[in-house]
Amino acid sequence: MIRRELVILGAGPAGMAAAITAGRCGIRATVIDENATSGGQIFRQPPKSFVTSDSPADDENAARGTDLRKELASLGDRIELLPATTVWGYFPQRQIAIRNEQGWQMIEAKQLILAPGAYEFVPPFPGWTLPGVMTPGAAQSMVKTMKILPGKRVLVAGSGPFLLVVAAQLHAAGVEVVGVVEAVRRRDILRHFPDLLSNRKLLGQGRRYYRTLQQAGIPFHWGHLVTEAHGNESVEQATITACDSQSRPQGRSTTISLDTLCVGYGFVPRIELAQMADCHVQYSDLLGSWIPEVDENFETSVPGVRVAGDGGGVAGAIAAELQGTLAALAALHQLGQLDASAFEQQRTPIVFRLNKLQKFRRALDQIYRIRSGLLDLALPDTIVCRCEELTRQEVETGIQFGGTDIPTLKVSTRLGMGPCQGKMCWSMAARMIAAQTGKSIADIGPVRVRPPVGPLEIADLLNPQLLETS
Ligand SMILES: Cc1cc2nc3c(=O)[nH]c(=O)nc-3n(C[C@H](O)[C@H](O)[C@H](O)COP(=O)(O)OP(=O)(O)OC[C@H]3O[C@@H](n4cnc5c(N)ncnc54)[C@H](O)[C@@H]3O)c2cc1C
Repeated sequence: MIRRELVILGAGPAGMAAAITAGRCGIRATVIDENATSGGQIFRQPPKSFVTSDSPADDENAARGTDLRKELASLGDRIELLPATTVWGYFPQRQIAIRNEQGWQMIEAKQLILAPGAYEFVPPFPGWTLPGVMTPGAAQSMVKTMKILPGKRVLVAGSGPFLLVVAAQLHAAGVEVVGVVEAVRRRDILRHFPDLLSNRKLLGQGRRYYRTLQQAGIPFHWGHLVTEAHGNESVEQATITACDSQSRPQGRSTTISLDTLCVGYGFVPRIELAQMADCHVQYSDLLGSWIPEVDENFETSVPGVRVAGDGGGVAGAIAAELQGTLAALAALHQLGQLDASAFEQQRTPIVFRLNKLQKFRRALDQIYRIRSGLLDLALPDTIVCRCEELTRQEVETGIQFGGTDIPTLKVSTRLGMGPCQGKMCWSMAARMIAAQTGKSIADIGPVRVRPPVGPLEIADLLNPQLLETS
């Protein structure tokens, strides 16, 4: 067991901002990330060994990522960076278990900031398990980290501004983007336009992506969903269908030829470690996910454990940076490194900026909220739990036979027992229980988690002691 003053999980915008704040105050933070390079999702980088002369895939955001990384590097010894290292468990008193190629170790933190980011949400639909069907984030990651094109003819579908980003990045990388399919209807966005105007910079960014796609002649299908993916060995076509305001397929269908289909309906926070730490969590109907309860300084119900960034409720990279900074300031204050007046002085402008972002964020959340019609996309023989290959029919039978909460359903059907441990299917399973029993998702409760957070081999637990005690 080694002991550290401040441990930060995640080197995305939230984690990097937290570490920089600590470093500036003279505190050496330990930053852990399972990725080989810092940057998180938005500033994802190729590994250092990968050399390319190409310009970054997304210049507007890449510049900010470069600045943060430079600042992190300038901290030198004032930061202990553990890349390619996974946090696989949380144990009482802010003890976390980490592992990497060298071995594994327990670290006890006086203050812990969890900044693990989010997952993409994909509801099951017929054909979604075919090779060539992936999330927009997966396609983006191929392009950003390895300059690999996910396919030649790609359809980007689902809901949310992220579709624009990915479609534009794929187009810039040389992919033929055969269309963007957005479940929200254009008029539903226009209704929220006054609130979107509260952040002209972000709105402008979205419009620039949209204009790029339009200028490239990429068809945009507003108010449509992918209702089926077809193919033999891999995906060859997708059927898209018009939908109503609740994302219920209704009306005309068209079939589009492609070799890659990207589908994602936004993000849900990664809360497993916060849950393992026994932090109180609450269900947010607006975000369609469980989120840890935090106070004004991002402290959870467990003293000394904070959650910042998308892991506390998806709010975007700018908010993640501000939350990371604030969480670090509060941790430093508790560690006695920042007196009350310095803390308040530095905190006030950050709170002001976070509040300013809220109107825009709420508008986005309302426009792109996960709607009930997505539940209807899966047919009885559609696989819902991919790891255990359980169909909708089998899950529904499990619910009929008493699996009316996630743990019982898990025991009776094996749903969520595979490598992803329910990350992909809990949301759909909870919605299916709600539809059959009339219970609210809040009453059904989240998936229960226990270590390890992800797959862990026994061999990973050999050779402890990967860090020197210092
Ligand atoms: C796949 C994906 C792609 C995205 N791309 C974009 C984009 O192009 N543009 C945009 O505006 N927004 C994008 N977003 C949203 C954007 O990432 C966020 O709004 C913002 O960057 C969140 O910052 P963060 O620091 O909270 O989390 P992230 O940037 O997600 O960083 C979290 C970090 O924590 C690490 N981590 C998580 N769990 C563990 C663990 N157990 N052990 C070790 N490390 C762990 C992850 O490896 C990751 O690096 C994307 C989100 C996702 C999920």
